[in-house]
Amino acid sequence: MGRRETMKTKIDIQHLSVEYGRGAERFTALADVSLTVREGEFVCLLGPSGCGKTTLLNAIAGFERPTSGSLLIDGSPVDGPNPRHTVVFQDYGLLPWRTVERNVGLGLENRNLSPSGRQQTVDRCLDLVGLTAFRNYYPEQLSGGMRQRIALARALAVDPDMLLMDEPFGALDVITRARMQDELIRIWQTCAKTIVFVTHDIDEAVYLADRVVIMAPDPGRIKAVKTIDLGRGRDRTSVRFMAERDQILEIFEMKNYTEVEFYL
Ligand code: ADP
Ligand code: MG
Repeated sequence: MGRRETMKTKIDIQHLSVEYGRGAERFTALADVSLTVREGEFVCLLGPSGCGKTTLLNAIAGFERPTSGSLLIDGSPVDGPNPRHTVVFQDYGLLPWRTVERNVGLGLENRNLSPSGRQQTVDRCLDLVGLTAFRNYYPEQLSGGMRQRIALARALAVDPDMLLMDEPFGALDVITRARMQDELIRIWQTCAKTIVFVTHDIDEAVYLADRVVIMAPDPGRIKAVKTIDLGRGRDRTSVRFMAERDQILEIFEMKNYTEVEFYL
């Protein structure tokens, strides 16, 4: 069990299917997916393009309605987006005409907060992602890594109990990406949130996750769920890290070699 986990179930998915289109156009994006995620757990959805990772994340976020099956969060059916479950996208979704601090405060504007309470929250979140010195900059003046930090700070500002992240570091260079992974782990350890993180990068999944949900396409489904048996402060070059990585590769290779070519 990961450090931040409790025994409480946060997400309970049973026999979930999502189909797009109708009639001859009908397409099964997810078939019979069952998964439970505990409160405080860090779970990665891993798999090649088109295996339904985004569809599953969007269903959890309430953006996508399942065709069949059940999807409960905190014991209640998901019936639409919920501000307590914030989504962080790869393209940041920042407003270019707003400064860093006004981007971070976006989600607080329609809340019943005093200006000083709002400012305190913005300050705390800017500090958490190391952007205090850049508060008056505009997104276009900052690097990709810093923009992703703004998006993360904005997500954290509304104090969600769950972060849903869709390949958030996919556009970053390798070094910035490794830094962001460390920051995310640090934030997760500080704030005790449930995180569902989509990636197609095996190393990223092994580095971040308590458990990796290994998905496969045609139709989108869960192939295996792998617990990562490593503590925190993981060493990407250690033998045990490599072993976890190899086991995941093996799961991809076992049944259908073409599914793994994507990663090699
Ligand atoms: P992933 O995020 O793993 O790449 P997606 O969840 O985006 O996969 O997509 C899964 C499959 O569903 C893909 O084949 C994709 O083309 C299809 N799909 C996704 N969204 C739609 C949609 N709105 N309408 C029709 N097909 C879609
Ligand atoms: Mg996707």
